[in-house]
Amino acid sequence: MAVRVVRRRELTFWEKLYIPQILSGLKITFRHFFRNLFLHTAHLLGRYKLLPAAVTIQFPEELRPLMSRFRSRHRLTLRADNTPRCVGCMLCETVCPAKCITIVPGEHPDPNVEKYPVRFDIDLGVCVYCGYCVEVCPEDAIRMDTGILDVAAYSREAMRLDIHELMDPKLRKPITECNLTFPHKCSLSGGAMKGSWESVTGS
Ligand code: SF4
Ligand code: SF4
Repeated sequence: MAVRVVRRRELTFWEKLYIPQILSGLKITFRHFFRNLFLHTAHLLGRYKLLPAAVTIQFPEELRPLMSRFRSRHRLTLRADNTPRCVGCMLCETVCPAKCITIVPGEHPDPNVEKYPVRFDIDLGVCVYCGYCVEVCPEDAIRMDTGILDVAAYSREAMRLDIHELMDPKLRKPITECNLTFPHKCSLSGGAMKGSWESVTGS
């Protein structure tokens, strides 16, 4: 089979100078600059209010308003008695394509509630923010509406949210005390506060 060699086109003299390209870029920059200058001035004078002008948002000090459907950091929703709505059905763990949810369910003392999550971890370092966990939950127990975008951390372990951080999105690691209203006791293990299956079963 014949091989067709395609040679890259040589740049012309003017293209090698790059001056036309620089001027073309400056033209776009100045067009936006003068358009926005004109519109912001006009808005101050109460004119052309319907024509939007570009604004610079000083992130992260200033946050852009998020759309209601925007997927931000997860949270677990709560019942009136401040316990999680989650019934430990494991649907979210099963559907998660990144396999970043870890749930350990326990028997709930209230016979009307089948189970509850003794442990509920989400590894944000692996999560792809697809929202499947929210879609699949039959109890509306997990949502991605905290508006928290800054999930960066200095270690992989810090990227792993546990049930304390999921129930109270304001909490940040290290968590050394558990004040959750649960039928089990959390304990500090390996520097992380974890709910323990053993403490539920008493084994
Ligand atoms: S958003 Fe997607 S990847 Fe992240 S925990 Fe939920 S199901 Fe898993
Ligand atoms: S968060 Fe929802 S889907 Fe996931 S285990 Fe709890 S009840 Fe089931």
